[in-house]
Amino acid sequence: MIEILDLHKSFGALEVLRGINVKLEHGKVLVIIGPSGSGKTTLLRCFNLLEVPDRGSIELGGMKLSFTDSKTISQHNVVSFRKKTGMVFQSYNLFPHMTVLGNVMEGQITVQKRSKEDARKRALVLLEKVGLVDKAASYPHQLSGGQQQRVAIARAMAVEPEVLLFDEPTSALDPELVGEVLKVIKQLATEGMTMVIVTHEMKFAADVADTMILMEYGHILEEGTPDDVLKHPKSKRAQQFLNRLS
Ligand code: ADP
Repeated sequence: MIEILDLHKSFGALEVLRGINVKLEHGKVLVIIGPSGSGKTTLLRCFNLLEVPDRGSIELGGMKLSFTDSKTISQHNVVSFRKKTGMVFQSYNLFPHMTVLGNVMEGQITVQKRSKEDARKRALVLLEKVGLVDKAASYPHQLSGGQQQRVAIARAMAVEPEVLLFDEPTSALDPELVGEVLKVIKQLATEGMTMVIVTHEMKFAADVADTMILMEYGHILEEGTPDDVLKHPKSKRAQQFLNRLS
């Protein structure tokens, strides 16, 4: 359902992705781990073309885009592709001037052209799911970080994406607020939401991942089940990285 082939991305002289191959089936969860600067966020941002790869291809929800050094991707294709994804950022990025309800309605109205009433109904269902229906009329600044991130998850889901992308969704949170966000993500996993998650929360990663990849210097160093990657890494470098964590 998602297939990435031989993906390359450089920033100037710095080659950040050096030939990445990833396959993910519908309803499965892929977790990306690895040291800081290894290219995790860049890879995640390629899934929705916030970063446009230099080479390789990405297939997602029946649409395949191939990238070459000489060819630019049309804006139309970027928009169609991005509609298949929902992104949850480290720092929530809610619209500050809109209520919680407004945040979860907005994409449905502007992207999906739903009526206000339909968008409102769906937003309330999603807010119920993340346990925040009682905050529908609040503004983001009135919520804790954990609550804001749960709204961001509801907002990302509101447009019915094929895949939800999470960029270190708990790393901006105070430790006591991490659990409530991870719980929501785990619940989505049990409901069969396809997700790609960059995280440093190893216990959570092991719990939620169907497949895990460990990146280093723009390569995939290890790939497999959480058990394969965390308990039986083949490479010495992966062992060293994992030892530093424990
Ligand atoms: P990770 O998520 O594993 O920490 P990133 O994908 O954020 O790694 O970054 C990988 C490398 O690419 C880092 O050296 C980072 O400084 C660099 N990088 C990321 N984004 C940009 C950018 N927009 N411009 C220039 N360099 C970037």
